[in-house]
Amino acid sequence: MSGSTLQGTGIGRGIAVGPVLRMPDPLPEPDETPSALTPDAEKERARASLAATAAIIRHRGERAGGSAKDVLEAQAFMAEDPTLIDDVGERIDTGKTAERAVFEAFAAFRELLLSMGGYMGERATDLDDVSQRVVAHLRGVAAPGVPDPEHPFVLVARDLAPADTALLDLSKVLALVTSDGGPTSHTAILAREKSIVAVVGVADALGLADGTEIVVDASTGVVTVSPSDEERDAAVARAAELKAARNAATGPGTLADGTLVPLLANLGSADGAADALEKGAEGVGLFRTEFLFLDSTSAPTVEEQKTQYVRLLHAFAGKKVVVRALDAGADKPLSFLNDAPEENPALGLRGLRALRANEPILRDQLAALAAADAQTDADLWVMAPMVSTVEETRYFTALAREAGLKTAGVMVEVPSSALLADRILADADFASIGTNDLTQYTLAADRLLGSVASFQDPWHPAVLKLVGEVGKAGQATGKPVGICGEAAADPLLAVVLVGLGATTLSMSPSALADVRAELSRFTREDARRFAELALSANSAVEARAAVTSAAATTE
Ligand code: PEP
Ligand code: MG
Repeated sequence: MSGSTLQGTGIGRGIAVGPVLRMPDPLPEPDETPSALTPDAEKERARASLAATAAIIRHRGERAGGSAKDVLEAQAFMAEDPTLIDDVGERIDTGKTAERAVFEAFAAFRELLLSMGGYMGERATDLDDVSQRVVAHLRGVAAPGVPDPEHPFVLVARDLAPADTALLDLSKVLALVTSDGGPTSHTAILAREKSIVAVVGVADALGLADGTEIVVDASTGVVTVSPSDEERDAAVARAAELKAARNAATGPGTLADGTLVPLLANLGSADGAADALEKGAEGVGLFRTEFLFLDSTSAPTVEEQKTQYVRLLHAFAGKKVVVRALDAGADKPLSFLNDAPEENPALGLRGLRALRANEPILRDQLAALAAADAQTDADLWVMAPMVSTVEETRYFTALAREAGLKTAGVMVEVPSSALLADRILADADFASIGTNDLTQYTLAADRLLGSVASFQDPWHPAVLKLVGEVGKAGQATGKPVGICGEAAADPLLAVVLVGLGATTLSMSPSALADVRAELSRFTREDARRFAELALSANSAVEARAAVTSAAATTE
């Protein structure tokens, strides 16, 4: 592949150069050929590999520290579970190899956990990881998962699982390149959160050989294989320029003509507040309350919730904080809100629909927010997720006002709400556009499904047209229109969104610096011109390309 380029979707604007290191592929299932060794010899092999795997996992946990340590400690215990070890032994007694017995015993345990559902069910994936590691140890091959060499590298993978990402050593990972996943995949969200240069959805990425030098340019989504000296030097110079621009832009979000565009943080717990403030967040644009209660089996009490909200509002005293009511369903199931299996959960009883079906839970949440508001000095706004009708808007804003909350709005995540934004904003105090879901519903592409990830691109002119509808309605009614999906964290797209009428942008705190720097390069007039260019394109790729080249000739 020397000298060639590969195309994917860039996350952010960073650029990096380094050698490829491939994430090892999952191991194939051990075959069922009977063992040539005695059962005792196989049992000894199994015992030694289980113990060694537990020790390795524990060691990694100690090195990683923080929450990764707890996750890994729990995984080490799985490899030491006496019931599981007995099961492996019993399977070996029937003539199986240690590899096959380990594989089968873990698979049986997995089924058991899955049948228990809830928290235990979620641990099933961790078991797969441990099982693969033990089998790799038995075979004497590299364990699957994030490699851990001594030198810096560009990690090339199909996609990253949450457990992998917890272990990334950011001092060594220069960039990420994945073959799967779109701009809202887990890898992309992580890359934004940690400011890692990333290009996702590069179809041929897995053809890259270990050690090959590549340039990863997130601003264009291009991966250059075996670059020339000039290409390498240009990339290194650009990386230095970006770092300087990032450090230079401080203070509130402002366009080059002085127009203020407040930059806010997306948070899932008050724990991230200090970091967000340090990175210059001017408030919170999306507080995802469901993240506080993903493990709860019963609805949180008013007191329990109030404690969490007070912590958040205290941290942002004097600043705007937009709290979203519980958004359960699809990728974020909350067993106490919507437990019934659905054929198409993204189109089911999620967001406000689930809350409405459990109105006492919604009323409790609003009461907890009002109580926390009374005790603190932040400017609290509340909003409902996944609102699809004017009637739902009226329902939610009336309930919020009844609870004593003064600013009540809705998220625009469904095309119907964008198209009727003028009527929705007649009742709501503000709108906040969730571009992740708006893209999923506009393009009819499940945001979690790798096979349709290429559709999940918020640069798509159809998505931008809908954003523009909300922007126009905001201007006509004089009401704020925020953006809180991942699109706001893409610096150039952020400028386009402002051109379409967004008045604030909310994102993972680590994206703030890049977006702030990009906004400062362009005027409102430029932003409008870029928006027109993007709207008149035929595809997301064309829109991005047209605006990228206009931006390059603008300053
Ligand atoms: C969105 O859909 O863009 C959004 C911000 O909400 P979430 O990602 O939590 O669904
Ligand atoms: Mg959403």
